[in-house]
Amino acid sequence: MTESIRTVCHGCRQVTQYRDDAGSIRPMVLPGSGTVWADRAPGGMVEQPCPECGDGEDPGWLPGFVSPV
Ligand SMILES: [Zn+2]
Repeated sequence: MTESIRTVCHGCRQVTQYRDDAGSIRPMVLPGSGTVWADRAPGGMVEQPCPECGDGEDPGWLPGFVSPV
């Protein structure tokens, strides 16, 4: 059995915050869905495929280990 390594795509990931047991606000990374939102038209956000993982087999993730930019 091969261990598969994958990394949350840093292009479309989302970061949210949560409060831990000690009451501290901490960032939490959520994997994206392979799409990013681009601010295009006036007053409009356009959803488009993520340039990094959009054509991958596993949207939101990249194969192997990828260090954050
Ligand atoms: Zn991505």
